[in-house]
Amino acid sequence: MRIVSGMRPTGKLHLGHYFGVIRNWVRLQKEHEAFFFIADWHALTTAYKDTKNLKSHIRELMIDWLALGLDPQKSTLFIQSKVKEHTELHLVFSMITPKSWLEWNPTYKDMKYNLLKLQDLELQFRGALRDHVKEFLGSIPYRIEDFERLEEHLLEAIAEAMVEAVFEGEIDKGILKELNVSKRDFYETDTYGFLGYPVLQAADILIYKGEGVPVGEDQLPHIELTREIARRFNHLYGDTFPEPQALLTETPKVPGTDGRKMSKSYGNAIFFSDSSQEVQQKIMKMFTDPQKLRKNDPGRPDICPVFAYHKLFTGDSQLVNQIKEDCSNGKLGCVDCKKIVFNSLEEFIAPFRTQRENLEKNTDTLMDIFHEGSEKAGEIASQTVGEVREALNI
Ligand code: SF4
Repeated sequence: MRIVSGMRPTGKLHLGHYFGVIRNWVRLQKEHEAFFFIADWHALTTAYKDTKNLKSHIRELMIDWLALGLDPQKSTLFIQSKVKEHTELHLVFSMITPKSWLEWNPTYKDMKYNLLKLQDLELQFRGALRDHVKEFLGSIPYRIEDFERLEEHLLEAIAEAMVEAVFEGEIDKGILKELNVSKRDFYETDTYGFLGYPVLQAADILIYKGEGVPVGEDQLPHIELTREIARRFNHLYGDTFPEPQALLTETPKVPGTDGRKMSKSYGNAIFFSDSSQEVQQKIMKMFTDPQKLRKNDPGRPDICPVFAYHKLFTGDSQLVNQIKEDCSNGKLGCVDCKKIVFNSLEEFIAPFRTQRENLEKNTDTLMDIFHEGSEKAGEIASQTVGEVREALNI
C-alpha cells in the first residue's frame, strides 16, 4: 500500500510527537511504500506573519525524523514546497470543492477556536489579568505552598473562560477595550488559506495517489474530505484518483510534565534535543498526585503523570508493579520515584540524542537526503499533474 503523511515544521520534536506519530511511521515504512513530507506550506496557514524561524524549524524536523528512525532507504522523505506540483493540484481542487464542505468541516470551528485560545486572546487575557490574580492570591489568609504554579493555574482557567465568553458574545466591546484585549489577531488568522487547508491536504495525498493515510481520530473528517474531493474529480473528469483510507492506530497517551497534554505551547514538553541535565530538571519538577504531600502519604499512581512515564519507559514490568504498590502504600516517596523514572527515560532518550548530535554536524548529508527525496516525489507528482491537465483539457 502507498501511504502518505506530513508534519508541519513547528520546532523540535518531543516525546508526544514520537509516541503519537513517528513511532507509527517507523513501523509503517517497513511494511509499505511510504511518503513523508515536511509540510512547510501548511505552516503558513496559521503562522504566516512570522516566518523567520521557518528554515530552522525545517532543519530541526529533518534532524529529528532521521534521528528517531525514519529511514531514507525505506521511505521517501521530502519537503512539500520543493515539489511545486502540490500547489498546482491544490489550485485545481480548490476550483471543484464547494465552500460549504470546508465551512461545515467539524474541525474547522474547533481549530479556529483552539488557535485563537492558544495564540491570541488567551495570552492577552493572561497579561491583562495577571495583576488581579496576584492581588487576589495575596489577599488569601493562608500560606500557599507553590504560589507561582497556583497563579498560572488560575490565570489559565480564567483566560480560557474569558475566551469562551467572548465567543459566546457574553463580553462586550467596552470590557475588551478596558482590558486592552483585541480580537484583531484572531481575524488575521481567519484567512482563505486557513479555511482551505484541507484542500491542500487532499492535494498532498492524492498527488501521490496515496491509498493509506496514518492519522489520529481528530483528522478523520479531513480524510473523508479528501475522499470526497477525489470522488468529485473522478466524477467530473474521469477516473484519476484512488480514495485513500485512514489508517487509525492506537497510540499511548504521553502527558506533559504538568499532567496536561504534552505541548510546546504549554511549556511542559520533554524534547529529544534536551540535555540529560535538562531532562532531569524537568522530571524533578514534574507534577505528581497532589494528595501525596509527604513520603509516607499513600499515593494514586493512576492519576500521576510520573507513573504514566514509568509505564512507558521503565521496561521492567515487575519494577513498575512494585512502584505502583509502594506508591499506593506510602512506602515510596515522589523524589525517589522520579529518580527511577529519570534513569529509565534517559536510557530511552540517550541513543536518539546521540543520533541527533551526529546529524547536527552533517548538514550536507541531511540536505542531500531531503533533496533526493523531493526529486523522487517530484517525478510522481509531475506525472499525476500531467494526467490531471489532460483530464481537464488544459
Ligand atoms: S510516588 Fe511516584 S507514582 Fe506515586 S505519586 Fe509520587 S511520583 Fe507519582
